[in-house]
Amino acid sequence: MAKYKRILLKLSGESLQGKQGYGLDPEVLASYAAQIRTVAEAGVQIGIVIGGGNIFRGMTGVGKGFDRVRGDQMGMLATVINSLALQSAIENAGGRACVLTSIPMGPVGAGIYSKFRALELMREGYVVIIGGGTGNPFFTTDTASALRGVEIEADVLLKGTRVDGVYTADPEKDPAAVKYDRITFAEVIEKRLKVMDLTAFTMCMENRLPIIVFDMDTPGNLERVLAEEGALAEVGTLVHN
Ligand code: UDP
Repeated sequence: MAKYKRILLKLSGESLQGKQGYGLDPEVLASYAAQIRTVAEAGVQIGIVIGGGNIFRGMTGVGKGFDRVRGDQMGMLATVINSLALQSAIENAGGRACVLTSIPMGPVGAGIYSKFRALELMREGYVVIIGGGTGNPFFTTDTASALRGVEIEADVLLKGTRVDGVYTADPEKDPAAVKYDRITFAEVIEKRLKVMDLTAFTMCMENRLPIIVFDMDTPGNLERVLAEEGALAEVGTLVHN
């Protein structure tokens, strides 16, 4: 398990809604929490960034009378709701977790995010969930996860999705698509594959932060991804320099 000492896990907001189509599914939260707790107990330091797409995305409001900046602020608040929900789920699973926010929010969470506060809490054994994205409009939580991953000097950025890796084409549309076990940043660009949005992808590439794309919805996969090299090929794709 100790292949990675410190990880940044990115979870999409949409995945938290499960089959409901909106909001938070307690079963998904419990499944994620159990996996996160197992990995934390094995001694891996974990930072988490969650999206807000199950509640609100800034772009959704554009065209419906919302100003983009205000819509993005609503989206960032949605990520805080998800962060608090995951914190509760981890605590219910018997783990220790806290939420730091990218914007000051008073008694909500354990304070404002800084690299040093996050690392201090990780050393104390907490899973640190960073809510509020980057704190700025016009960014995504993919970019927030890349930024925080680089900042906290994570060994790897884990992007949990419903697809189990990077494919030659979209596997949900093209049945002939083949999964890569590993691929370089340069190949992803050359083949125009989609791993994360460009801002996030560039951030990782320039700072040599490897990305693992994997399916977090299969229980036990988080542990498998972090285990020995062979298992990764089965459950995800490694993007590296
Ligand atoms: N957001 C933002 N700045 C950030 C991160 C997120 O403005 O740094 C807003 C943006 O409106 C985004 C929403 O929060 O649409 C939710 O995040 P995201 O779409 O990344 O969530 P996901 O798709 O992962 O559920």
